[in-house]
Amino acid sequence: MSSHSRIPFLDLVTPHVELERELTEVFRRALHNAGFIGGPMVEEFERAFADFCDVRYAVGVSSGTDALRFALAACGVHPGAVVLTAPHTFIATSEAISQVGAIPEFVDIDERSYNMDPKKLGEYLESNCKKNASGQLVSLRSNRPVAAVVPVHLYGQMADMDAIVELAQRFNLIVIEDACQAHGAEYFSPRQNRWLKAGSIGRAAAFSFYPGKNLGACGEAGAATTNGEGIAAKIKMLRDHGQAKKYHHDIEGYNGRIDSIQAGLLHVKLRYLSKWNTLRRERAAEYNRLLSAADAGVTPPYEPSWSKAIYHLYVVRCDNREGLMSHLKNAGIGTGIHYPIPLHLQKAYASMHYRVGDFPVTEKVAGEIVSLPMFPQLTHEEQARVVEEILAFTGQSVARLPS
Ligand SMILES: *Cc1c(COP(=O)(O)O)cnc(C)c1O
Repeated sequence: MSSHSRIPFLDLVTPHVELERELTEVFRRALHNAGFIGGPMVEEFERAFADFCDVRYAVGVSSGTDALRFALAACGVHPGAVVLTAPHTFIATSEAISQVGAIPEFVDIDERSYNMDPKKLGEYLESNCKKNASGQLVSLRSNRPVAAVVPVHLYGQMADMDAIVELAQRFNLIVIEDACQAHGAEYFSPRQNRWLKAGSIGRAAAFSFYPGKNLGACGEAGAATTNGEGIAAKIKMLRDHGQAKKYHHDIEGYNGRIDSIQAGLLHVKLRYLSKWNTLRRERAAEYNRLLSAADAGVTPPYEPSWSKAIYHLYVVRCDNREGLMSHLKNAGIGTGIHYPIPLHLQKAYASMHYRVGDFPVTEKVAGEIVSLPMFPQLTHEEQARVVEEILAFTGQSVARLPS
């Protein structure tokens, strides 16, 4: 261990201590009126989060996984249908698909953006699906109708949505965004000639407020966003036992509500989200500057001109990933891998009979990625030390580090 202090992968303590008074005020307000479920704290947060995402409705739920599950169900994804997504994501994406009774099928990613490759989506729809007698698009893999596509805005960078939306329109598929890592990310749509917010493009979208996300609760929470009034109403019913009116259950739903206290805490933190996202973007630019100037032997993230990523994670690639991680660990620097095993090779999906080699880009990337420390309070001195240690590992001279 070096004599330097540790650099954590993520610092969740500092932002909460900085906001201690505002956050504890939320607890006080809830304790004094025992408003623990529903009520104004939920509604006020939902209004503010919908505005933040440029959508008409946001519905607070108990997690990002539930947000995605309810969004799929409310948009009409039926049991037995196929939903296409990327194999390079957190398992919650495919879990939510399975939990509505649908079948996840995977489309490989783009090697630079790490998001679903629209070209491969097009190829899949053209070559691995066919129209059945009633004109429905059916997957040749499962012989089931293809209903929807779930692009994941991984690491805080949006997928190439115009290309995906165009294919979805051509093949009559519902688009539901997994925006669980992308609160505030933006995409420049050439079709609409303007910047669009994550969560505002698909028929509905899912956000997670897991504590480590860019907007995190002090516990579990999530939200679904949509411009569809009927979809929002359906998601509200699904989160609350299928009722719009107490004890009038139109359908079977779930216990998937957001806690009022979490909604109140999130509302406080939402006021700082744009600032925090800007700080993350600055830190990403600083890493990029240091790494590229030093020719550090690792590949920094790629941000296309049409993207404003919010760097939930700052992910580089290295041929000797395990070596780099253990070097950084010995230097007191925290790292992570998001994610080491592609979904199609997970034991949970053995029954789908995917094989090694089915998604070569995902498989290659999964073996090379390392997530470096990334959070708004990370200092430039800490970043310089992270890069110094990377250079020490890759054998590059520290003298090449720009000041
Ligand atoms: C975090 C995350 C989820 C799930 O969110 P939870 O709130 O943990 O249920 C889904 N998809 C992606 C891409 C995520 O990162």
